[in-house]
Amino acid sequence: MPWMPRAIYPGSFDPVHNGHVDIATRASAVFDEIVVAIYDRPPSKTLMFGTEERVQLFSEATENITNIRVTPFTGLAPDFARASDADFILRGLRAGFDFELEFEMALMWRNIAPDIDVVCMMSSLENQFVYSSRIKEVAQLGADISKLVPANVLKAMHEKLQV
Ligand code: ADP
Repeated sequence: MPWMPRAIYPGSFDPVHNGHVDIATRASAVFDEIVVAIYDRPPSKTLMFGTEERVQLFSEATENITNIRVTPFTGLAPDFARASDADFILRGLRAGFDFELEFEMALMWRNIAPDIDVVCMMSSLENQFVYSSRIKEVAQLGADISKLVPANVLKAMHEKLQV
């Protein structure tokens, strides 16, 4: 049987933004399948969008990429990778503190599941400083976020914030 590398891409994606789409798109050229795994209840995060909404927003934003599948998940990412038959966990890196965080988390995941490797990819320069938390904050204050999120997310945020 040919090797068919599959990766899960776990995150809260509240909401998905151009940085996330950038990483998923790059990875779709490397892996046979990307399973975007939306944390159902991420610990210590207040969410703007429910799980089903976040799944739908990510699916719509990547609907032109055939080897990306989006699904909710709970529990540990390495357990979900195993359950999905994936050998890799994909993570994105922004400039600065992401590296320390991802490095520490990757070693914890390796401790839990030594057979699963973490693969980090870097988003393009214009997406390096795009954060879901900052997008939500400035959108609530009326900023134009149209260059930071896909069109479907822009619409959903306007509806949610009624602006
Ligand atoms: P955040 O709320 O910080 O966007 P998520 O849990 O939704 O975090 O992120 C999921 C993954 O996407 C993480 O690996 C995170 O580092 C990565 N990521 C988030 N934003 C970007 C970006 N602008 N460029 C590259 N990777 C990113």
